[in-house]
Amino acid sequence: MAKAIAKKKPLAKKSNTIKLNFDTSWEYAPAPESKSAATINKQYDLFINGEWQQPSSKKYFDTINPATEEKLSEVADANAADVDKAVKAARNAYDKVWKKMPAKERAKYIFRIARIMQEKARELAIVETLDGGKPIKESRDFDVPTAANHLFYYAGWADKLEYAFPNRRTEPLGVAGQITPWNFPLLMAAWKIAPALATGNTVVLKPAETTPLTTLKLAEIIQEADLPPGVVNIITGAGETGAAIVNHADVNKIAFTGSTNVGKIIQRAIAGTNKKATLELGGKAANIIFEDAPIDQAVEGVVNAIFFNQGHVCCAGSRLYVQESVAKEVIRKLRDRMQSLIVGDPMDKNTDIGAINSREQLNIIQKYIAIGKKEGAEMYESSCALPSKGFWCRPTIFSNVAQSNRIAQEEIFGPVLSILTFRTDDEVIEKANNSPYGLSAGVWTDKGSKIFNMTKRMRAGVVWANTFNKFDPTSPFGGYKESGFGREGGLHGLLPYLKLIN
Ligand code: NAD
Repeated sequence: MAKAIAKKKPLAKKSNTIKLNFDTSWEYAPAPESKSAATINKQYDLFINGEWQQPSSKKYFDTINPATEEKLSEVADANAADVDKAVKAARNAYDKVWKKMPAKERAKYIFRIARIMQEKARELAIVETLDGGKPIKESRDFDVPTAANHLFYYAGWADKLEYAFPNRRTEPLGVAGQITPWNFPLLMAAWKIAPALATGNTVVLKPAETTPLTTLKLAEIIQEADLPPGVVNIITGAGETGAAIVNHADVNKIAFTGSTNVGKIIQRAIAGTNKKATLELGGKAANIIFEDAPIDQAVEGVVNAIFFNQGHVCCAGSRLYVQESVAKEVIRKLRDRMQSLIVGDPMDKNTDIGAINSREQLNIIQKYIAIGKKEGAEMYESSCALPSKGFWCRPTIFSNVAQSNRIAQEEIFGPVLSILTFRTDDEVIEKANNSPYGLSAGVWTDKGSKIFNMTKRMRAGVVWANTFNKFDPTSPFGGYKESGFGREGGLHGLLPYLKLIN
């Protein structure tokens, strides 16, 4: 295996003065993960009633590696008839098996799925990176372990619901229709399947069309865990398949993570029905640096908040508010740090920023970069070379951004940061809350009292203090305003899958 040894340009020989070299041109020997540790089938059918079934249309569509544009596999395109089959299987499993099963037995299945996921962690990380373009260090160290942790966590709740909701009797809802986005495919599937199963519901889940592979791998794991047929059904397809799930009369609950636009379509579609819904939608998080913050730590936090996962994060800190007195220093340090970020092969463990998920998403990001320039903001991008094939975007910042600019108001969903300044606490709270979204926010300051003041007054589902993008299965996650409603994770994440009786 190639060694990841950092090679540095030699220091120029100087007389007797010791000079520290802050040159950022580190180069690492390539250290790619091996594709051969993962098996990807040439073709995937639909996982319905515990079996792999051909789609009734016999149609399949390609899923590609966005870093190379090579085809990885082809997956079934499910239509309304397939969705109906999957919902029938889920209903049958609900009535005949799952709702009658003692809760501690249900828990054992969820534990088993989590354990197998851990055993296959390396393969899952490789497939997630190949299909989605995210750096292997993220899929390996964050996505896969966090997905397994969610399953472990909710397995623990399955037989303790009476403690979660004291003096209340709980009942599952029935069949849950679940739809996930392309940025965290395996993690979002685990976020949705784990609480649904723990509370006694059965599932029909559809992953996003550009990143279906790890969810199909999860179907293989579910089969290996001997989960009773029909308890979890995985079907693939694009928006029309998702709409067929949403509109199916025998689905009791919709759990959707994706864009605000599609969230609105779903809400309109289920209005007037008895379906319960959780909608986890877009974001435009404010990340706020006060002058008393540890600046180096804050700059590192900003890098993590927006460049992590190519900015393909709903809670990405894409609006940076810096107190005027430290703005110059923060921007200078941020530019320096951007120069050292490694953009390229997502399979290389040294890569910081991988490939943009699809050509369509790259077009959207480029459109916003052009809008930012037109709006008169000052743009800076790192000078790194980009691979010739695949979809890539250099880390980019805009300073001198106005609150009303589109790049400060609209979700870009790429490694593009808008920087604004402020003078007082009241001013920054007003600006941070002046957004149609309210998913997450960050505060960097030395003062605990300031943190409490900000977290109390900010309209965001999660507010991180002196850190960003930290997740834990025990913490609820969800939005305000157009970022959606309902919570996933923690004890709160059980409630959207239950009826509380008396
Ligand atoms: P998207 O809304 O385009 O697609 C999400 C899913 O919905 C996909 O599986 C898609 O096939 C399906 N879909 C599309 N049209 C549909 C319809 N009419 N009915 C039912 N399903 C339909 O979103 P995306 O581009 O995959 O993901 C990016 C978006 O997701 C961003 O806006 C991001 O902020 C958001 N997101 C939010 C969270 C959160 O927790 N709040 C987490 C991750 C991503």
